Amino acid sequence: MKIKTLGCYGGQMPGKNVTGLLLDGRVLIDAGTVALAADIGEQRKIKAAFISHAHLDHVCGLPFYAVNVVSSKSEPVKIYGSQFTIDAVKNHLMNGVIWPDFTAIKNFGGFPVFKYETVAPLKWIKACGYDLMAVPVNHTIPTVGFLIGKKERYMLYSGDTKDTDAIWLQAKKLGKKLKAAFIELAFPDEVGFLAESSGHLTPATLEKQLAKLLPLKPKVYVYHIKPEYIKEIKAGLKKIRGYDIAMIDDGLSCKI
Ligand SMILES: [Zn+2]
Ligand SMILES: [Zn+2]
Repeated sequence: MKIKTLGCYGGQMPGKNVTGLLLDGRVLIDAGTVALAADIGEQRKIKAAFISHAHLDHVCGLPFYAVNVVSSKSEPVKIYGSQFTIDAVKNHLMNGVIWPDFTAIKNFGGFPVFKYETVAPLKWIKACGYDLMAVPVNHTIPTVGFLIGKKERYMLYSGDTKDTDAIWLQAKKLGKKLKAAFIELAFPDEVGFLAESSGHLTPATLEKQLAKLLPLKPKVYVYHIKPEYIKEIKAGLKKIRGYDIAMIDDGLSCKI
């Protein structure tokens, strides 16, 4: 599997986009950034989006992406999320007021632009050729992380979360098939109170989560950093010993 980072930050600044990863050129994992970082050819190849939760930094790329793929002749792009997330996007974002409802607008092939797919928690499903499990995590609104993969290679994507348990337990069941973990981290330990109240991790609380995965030690990619704290977070991550941890950046790709 190949991941291209369209955006990996928890805030916006010039050159720093909010979270959106592109899996194998076909699936968005969160959709904070789409049209700003993928060209039109890439956007047309996207078949599905796995959405962790309804916060704006994870869905704000969907409306502009929708406009760009109206000219597509392909089947609807499937938007996967929990019932809460799908309802929120339907009722509060692309609700016919803030933005059109793109499940009611047809593309050039006569298909609706988007189709919503509700994902039940803690069940493996097939989605766009991948095995997918949504696992509830611990954020300020109902949020899921995902286990995604096929055959012998799986990845974890934490979604936005603070201290949590279920996703590490489920990931452990994958054993050696778990090759990589994309884990959110927003704040440095110095402002741990902000992380706690907004439902995010710091280097210290990340280390606590990694211990819950032991004996598994997948490659760790940290994302969702608040851009103003990059330096402090880098320093905090250096104190975590015994793991292979990388901070991803916009535009970079990695193989899993
Ligand atoms: Zn959030
Ligand atoms: Zn977020």
